[in-house]
Amino acid sequence: MSTIFALSSGALPSAIAIVRLSGPKSGEVLRVMSRRRNGVLDPRKMFYTRLHDHDETLIDTAMAVYLPGPSTFTGEDTAELFVHGSRAVVNTLARSLSQFDGVRHAKRGEFSKRAFYNGKMDLAAARGLRDLIHAETDRQRRVAQKQMDAGPAVRQLREDLVEAVGRATLLIDFGEHVDCTLDEVKVQSLAILEKLRKMVSSSRSAEIVHRGLRIVLVGRPNTGKSSLMNRLVQRDVAIVSETAGTTRDSIEVRLVLNGIPTTLTDTAGLRETDCTVEREGVARAKKRIEEADIALAIFDARRPEELAEIIAEIESVDKTLCIVPVANKCDLLEGKTPSSSAQTVQNVPVPTSAITTDGIDALRAKLERVVEDLCPDESSPSLTEFELLSEALTEVEQSMETVDAALCAHHLQNALNIVGELSGATVTEAILDRLFAQFCIGK
Ligand code: GDP
Ligand code: ZN
Repeated sequence: MSTIFALSSGALPSAIAIVRLSGPKSGEVLRVMSRRRNGVLDPRKMFYTRLHDHDETLIDTAMAVYLPGPSTFTGEDTAELFVHGSRAVVNTLARSLSQFDGVRHAKRGEFSKRAFYNGKMDLAAARGLRDLIHAETDRQRRVAQKQMDAGPAVRQLREDLVEAVGRATLLIDFGEHVDCTLDEVKVQSLAILEKLRKMVSSSRSAEIVHRGLRIVLVGRPNTGKSSLMNRLVQRDVAIVSETAGTTRDSIEVRLVLNGIPTTLTDTAGLRETDCTVEREGVARAKKRIEEADIALAIFDARRPEELAEIIAEIESVDKTLCIVPVANKCDLLEGKTPSSSAQTVQNVPVPTSAITTDGIDALRAKLERVVEDLCPDESSPSLTEFELLSEALTEVEQSMETVDAALCAHHLQNALNIVGELSGATVTEAILDRLFAQFCIGK
């Protein structure tokens, strides 16, 4: 096992840079560099020292600490060097460290990977840590920290499944001779199913909070999409023009709603067109709709019949997308209240005017509510492997549908394998690589 090191503080230059070492040689390297070759390092005690290069030149004065495993972040022996945060110091230190036998620069996420392998962290916690590192808003930070505590829930689920599989297997082996029926296994499975459903929905919202929400503005050209976007973000970002079909390419702006980062994309409408450039825009708009979590269906308040068409267009791309209808240009209505032929209860259009700014606050409030609905209940333990959980859910559902004990056991076993991956018990290398590749070096 090699000893790895990396800069674990932020971008240089900075007041102080922290270089962390992890692995069996951490203590020795620190002793050699601080010229305490035969001395003993006081564990967990910061000390002031001078760090020397192999040719005896001084690299920097530093504060240093030696943290013997296993009660460290990685579970291995660790050393931390607090040096002056200049590029020259850190580069020289890195070069010097690399010259030790069996010491090398860490790869992305390698510290966390070692922590994972040493049982210091399960997969849910690792995902939480990744999200925490990347958190930009306070809400993202809170959700990420909740996720880091999600491990126990997965472990409990795994134990429940082990028991259910055990019982189902007993049934296969001993049939009616054991004191347990398939119905009892199913009662147990039902409880597992309920837990899984909760986890799936909270993992989905954690994932959304992490990546942010995508909001796409859809509507006929010239209905005021760009103007509304400018109003929502309160600055001039999109091109507003009086010629229909001007917004040919998509413009993206970021808007934080309820602590969740969102991206607004302004698109050309989906109307049929002969113009090649515009057709290109229509294709892109389709893609944007596919990727979106929320669509604003924007129409000219004087032409309410457009709404049904736009909703149909959006639904032709994505049936489950959350649609918020917006009746814009209400200032041109001359006293009439906006109406729509395609109203449903949650589909009452928000009346707005991008010119007078009437209704913009209401639209923002409506968006905040929709965002809140999509990312509910931040207090529940959030697991992130949404797909894995969904697969496990399907398996448990299938186990409930069968009257054959062997088939029931088979599906429960599949669910157990999947949940095992989540808890780290049978995690695959591919999942780990994908996850830890999203870490920064030094974590
Ligand atoms: P887009 O093509 O849907 O992005 O529409 P734009 O935002 O480019 O707006 C097209 C034209 O409609 C511009 O001249 C805007 O000034 C005007 N416009 C946008 N919103 C409103 C509104 O609420 N009321 C009025 N009267 N004009 C608007
Ligand atoms: Zn536009």
